[in-house]
Amino acid sequence: MKTRELFEEIRQKEIRFSLKNRLTLLVTLEIIVCVLLALAVDTLLKRWLPDFWNIPLLLDLVFFSSLIGVFVTQFLSRMFFDPIKKLREAIGKVADGDYSVEINTKSNSKEIQEIYSGFNLMTHELRSTEILQLDFVSSASHEFKTPISAIEGYAALLRSGGDLTEEQRECVEKIIFNTKRLSSLTSSILLLSKLENQEIPTNQSKFLVDEQIRQSVVALETQWERKNIELDVDLCEAEYYGNEVLMRHVWDNLIGNAIKFTPEGSTVTIRLAKKLTKIIFTVEDQGPGIPEEALRHVFDKFYQADSVHKKEGSGLGLALVEKVLALEKGSVKAENMENGGCRFTVTLRTIK
Ligand code: ADP
Repeated sequence: MKTRELFEEIRQKEIRFSLKNRLTLLVTLEIIVCVLLALAVDTLLKRWLPDFWNIPLLLDLVFFSSLIGVFVTQFLSRMFFDPIKKLREAIGKVADGDYSVEINTKSNSKEIQEIYSGFNLMTHELRSTEILQLDFVSSASHEFKTPISAIEGYAALLRSGGDLTEEQRECVEKIIFNTKRLSSLTSSILLLSKLENQEIPTNQSKFLVDEQIRQSVVALETQWERKNIELDVDLCEAEYYGNEVLMRHVWDNLIGNAIKFTPEGSTVTIRLAKKLTKIIFTVEDQGPGIPEEALRHVFDKFYQADSVHKKEGSGLGLALVEKVLALEKGSVKAENMENGGCRFTVTLRTIK
């Protein structure tokens, strides 16, 4: 049955015994049972052990009722607290972003059934909104790609035409620069929305991480050469089993950011080491670092802590890095170094 219909059906059910009445009845019964049991124990003890057991009846009653009461209350409270515990666990999962949680609505209490089915209706609505949003983002980005490529293509054609004034050439260059930015932004949005829909790692294969990092460094050569940056690279050989294409985004982004944020003529240090069952990659720069309050947000989508370099990026790179590593069961950490600059550390599990 559909979640909403089930919710309505439960809501319309009549309550014969409300939770409050049931609790009152149970507590009354508990008191009666405890007193009767205590009375029975006292009588039996006095009959079997008349010489040893000569404590006054009232004291006996207090002692045995409390003892029996503790056990009976333990049992009864489970009836009331177990559903709360179940709900608390489910709410915890929703708070962590898992909207797939559903609670079995079977319960003797109508109120608990109502709470459970209300909770299921809430996660159902959250799931639908999330899917709708992701679908929209992915279709919209897809639709953007074709016209952007057309504009970029025509602008490149204009530039190669030759007979342009200086001002016209400048305009064409700006068109090409901005269409390239838009195109890379839409690609990142598409990839991110695809990864957000993905739970299981795909296209897994064996490859050498050190080799991939070297390729990334070479691909970024124009950027580090333009800024006269020295690269201090030390990579151990490390074989990894994972998605090769996605992992390339990780290195491109982290090394690219280090080059982007480090000042001209400075050094970027790249290391790859193996420690027990882990592969550890670090990249350090000598840039301004990341403000302490921004460190928690750098992996958020569209977050840019630095206004100087805003034009050179979209704020999606680190969100992608984090998502890729979550899929690969790895992790990434950002920290500021004592003597300036920042360090990004990626930890991967060695080949299974
Ligand atoms: P962007 O495309 O803007 O670089 P990222 O997601 O890669 O987006 O990074 C998000 C933000 O984190 C950046 O805008 C910048 O403020 C900060 N950041 C990332 N790497 C560095 C770094 N090496 N040094 C200083 N700040 C950084």
